[in-house]
Amino acid sequence: MKKTIKDIDVKGKKVLLRLDLNVPLNKETGEISDDTRIMESLTTINYLCESRAKVLICSHLGRPEGIDKKYSLKPVADRLEKILKHKVFFAEDTIGKDAKAKAKVLNDGEILVLENLRFDKREEENDATFCKELASLANIYVNDAFGTAHRKHASTYGVAKLLPNAVGFLMSKEIKVINSILDNPKRPFIAILGGAKIKDKIPVIENLITKADSILIGGGMSYTFKKALGGNVGKSLVDEEKITLAKELIEKAKANNVELVLPIDTVCATEFSNDAKPKKFPSDQIPDEFMGMDIGKKTIKLFKRYIKNAGTVVWNGPLGVFEFNKFAKGTNKIAKFVSKSKAFSFIGGGDSASAVIKSGYAKEVNHISTGGGASLNMLEGKILPGVDVITNLEDENEPKKEEAKKKAGTKKTSSSKTTKKQPAKKATTTKKTTAKTSSTKKTTAKK
Ligand code: AMP
Repeated sequence: MKKTIKDIDVKGKKVLLRLDLNVPLNKETGEISDDTRIMESLTTINYLCESRAKVLICSHLGRPEGIDKKYSLKPVADRLEKILKHKVFFAEDTIGKDAKAKAKVLNDGEILVLENLRFDKREEENDATFCKELASLANIYVNDAFGTAHRKHASTYGVAKLLPNAVGFLMSKEIKVINSILDNPKRPFIAILGGAKIKDKIPVIENLITKADSILIGGGMSYTFKKALGGNVGKSLVDEEKITLAKELIEKAKANNVELVLPIDTVCATEFSNDAKPKKFPSDQIPDEFMGMDIGKKTIKLFKRYIKNAGTVVWNGPLGVFEFNKFAKGTNKIAKFVSKSKAFSFIGGGDSASAVIKSGYAKEVNHISTGGGASLNMLEGKILPGVDVITNLEDENEPKKEEAKKKAGTKKTSSSKTTKKQPAKKATTTKKTTAKTSSTKKTTAKK
């Protein structure tokens, strides 16, 4: 298990808190258009303030090329102050004069937000000097930025090597939820995968093929599978280079007794536009001049049956071009079914999270991840660098145990009991799950 802020004494200490405050901004006004990421960080911020730590918040915002005030964290600091009803100081730089001066005079329980980490390109390079400068501002490092935990940047990785460290509440919850899904899912365990970037989703399919009972595939990536099966997909999105791999995955699923469920009907259009006239075809008989834009009614009904009978549902990626109203029906319906289902529901951030929020059922979902890329990486079975670098509680306790053992050894000699050394557990992402039982598999819905 990773050390959490509850395992460290922060009173009177300067805590460098890495958050994911990469909030969406209104393109015209530059105002914060959604403050969910700020709200999600409040539990950790409040805990640190109440514990009388001096809180130094750092984050990235957008993808600035050098210093670009359009991406300043000042509006985020102002919004935070408004929400907390408590003074929030702001440093005009990240590791410069202003940050150092303001960090120096910060009192217990006060908050200082540093300027955007990505104004300095050394952040993303995990540059050693940048890490050192950042670390010199504080005594303790806490990472609560799950959304960037898959990145090996200075503020998510390098700095953790230089300071006593721990994860915050949000990060801790994300890791726990995903690990418990992968290790011990309530069955039947179904995964719904959509979206366009098949290369990002294939590693997830590869990992889930050993864990899930059924994998439902929709969206742009489904046509590569349909084509691999010999279907005609017209001018739908196809990743030609992945056709062989898709064939292999279909075989692997069969061998593992996992159902790979593909769309049976598709809403198509002759052009990629919301003005295009939708026309439905069987998913493997799409005429040459048409492209697939959404799953059809029969597929929605088929997917619904799986969702209804599931014990665990993991969903990542829209099932159609949901940005166009005419082709958003499949995604919206699935959002509704997932949130209404009695299964433990997990939404892997990004577009599927937006769809669930838009559907108005977000509150009924068990967990909406704050990290699209990070949660996808965990579902792939990868260890996230930002999590891996944090001290394991077991490792922390080991020297203490050794010390106690030594002390006991000097007191007692032959009669002293030796402490059994526990093998250090990897407390991050990839523990092997227990094999699926055939009895639980019987409850899986049949087509
Ligand atoms: P991803 O980032 O891989 O999850 O992909 C999300 C994108 O997939 C969204 O912008 C959707 O519009 C797109 N998408 C979903 N279904 C289709 C489709 N049938 N054809 C093209 N793009 C799609």
